[in-house]
Amino acid sequence: MTTSVTAPGLTIAGRVYGADTMLPVVDPSVGAPFVEVPAASLAQLDEAVAAANAAFPAWRDTPAGRRQQLVRAIKDLVLAHLDELAVLITLEQGKPLAKARGEIQAGLRQVDYFGGLDVDTVEVLKDDETGRVEVRRAPLGVVGAITVWNYPFLVAMFKMVPALVAGNVVIIKPSPFTPVVTLRLGELVQEVLPPAVVQVVAGGDELGAALTEHPGIHKISFTGSVETGKRVMASAARTVKRVTLELGGNDAGIVLDDADPATVGADLFWAGFSNGGQVCAALKRLYVPASRFDAICEAVAAEAATVVVGPGLQDGVTAGPVQNAPQLERVRRLTEDAVRRGGEAFFRGEVPDGPGYWFPTTLVRGVAEGVPLVDEEPFGPVLPILTYTDVDDAVARANATDYGLGASVWSLDLDRAAAVGARLVAGSVWVNQHPVVTATVPFGGAKQSGIGVEGSRHGLHAYTDLRVLSVKR
Ligand code: NAD
Repeated sequence: MTTSVTAPGLTIAGRVYGADTMLPVVDPSVGAPFVEVPAASLAQLDEAVAAANAAFPAWRDTPAGRRQQLVRAIKDLVLAHLDELAVLITLEQGKPLAKARGEIQAGLRQVDYFGGLDVDTVEVLKDDETGRVEVRRAPLGVVGAITVWNYPFLVAMFKMVPALVAGNVVIIKPSPFTPVVTLRLGELVQEVLPPAVVQVVAGGDELGAALTEHPGIHKISFTGSVETGKRVMASAARTVKRVTLELGGNDAGIVLDDADPATVGADLFWAGFSNGGQVCAALKRLYVPASRFDAICEAVAAEAATVVVGPGLQDGVTAGPVQNAPQLERVRRLTEDAVRRGGEAFFRGEVPDGPGYWFPTTLVRGVAEGVPLVDEEPFGPVLPILTYTDVDDAVARANATDYGLGASVWSLDLDRAAAVGARLVAGSVWVNQHPVVTATVPFGGAKQSGIGVEGSRHGLHAYTDLRVLSVKR
């Protein structure tokens, strides 16, 4: 059964538009489209870019406090439409309704943080009888925000809110798999923002590429795969666009030999399986000392057994389907290949019968590096559990990857865990938790997992350039 919803439109120059081409959006719990949304043409993108450039000077010159007041008004608007937006997230993304509501609340924490931050700071480097040197931060202009399908609302808020507070205008291009909630957000914010300060244009990958090439866009904030991130960076180079790239990860977690399986088992499980494993900084490789291997596997499997996979709108469901068909295929391929290579899928959960992109919650052991399930990013509900005997070796293996998004260490001895963690090459290292991503703490990737950060004052600065004023006295 499909649920019908009203299709939101593109927002260009403060108005809502349809398009000549429609983009069907699939409900992954039934594997069939539930709505069609307009796909912006390149001419419509040009219109949006022109409108954004026209809107930029007035928004830039609006006092920061006023900009923040308007951004805070977005929170009230979203809360007034919380139920509607949460259903849209569940329908297009698949996650359980309570988790969709949680995604929205997490997005609103961007408003709480950046909406209240003191942003008008001037750094004075010198002020004496010979002169004064000051550094300010200036907004960049038009930001192109290209987002992904695992947290469509949250990722859009991660980009839109700090970009606006810093004084930029924003054009958001959501993933073609999950454009609906972002388009609806675009419609809603027109009620509080001046025209063309936020515009949302849905479309396929080619529309994303057009944003990265467009001379009227000054910064790309991109969240997606490493492969696409490289294309974005190459394309942005032609116009020296600034880029923030939040890319993929293959996060390792190292359990130390003093960890108590009963204490860490549930947290280890959810580190890997929150949002059905479709989290950039999910735990994707778990290293466990040989002495604790069986006990940890058992404890993680015990938590896995509590998961109820099903359609996100159904009561009692705690995990949804895989979001899209190519992703399901990838998770299947990597898991089946690992089993063919001698891996043991020692836990496999239940999935509903019938259509929908269902994949059982799966734990695999008996694999090591060299197996693609370990070396690549599955981005789905499967976790390989590996064994080690020497912690130095585990650290070396954890670091032997081009990824460097997150990593974690699990132990009763927090100092020891922190010391091991300091040797892991990742943008974020967590102890006894994984992942933790908030508005107030910088988050970004080392190595090929990205460039730049989101969150915190560092994330705000990503939407600015430094401007120096140097006066000779
Ligand atoms: P993807 O890279 O295929 O797509 C992401 C977005 O880029 C979509 O909007 C898509 O339309 C657009 N796009 C595609 N080709 C483009 C191009 N040439 N130029 C500009 N835009 C283009 O992403 P995916 O593989 O569907 O998503 C999963 C990946 O995203 C995983 O690797 C995951 O780890 C990563 N991710 C990272 C973070 C983070 O914050 N680091 C968060 C979520 C997901």
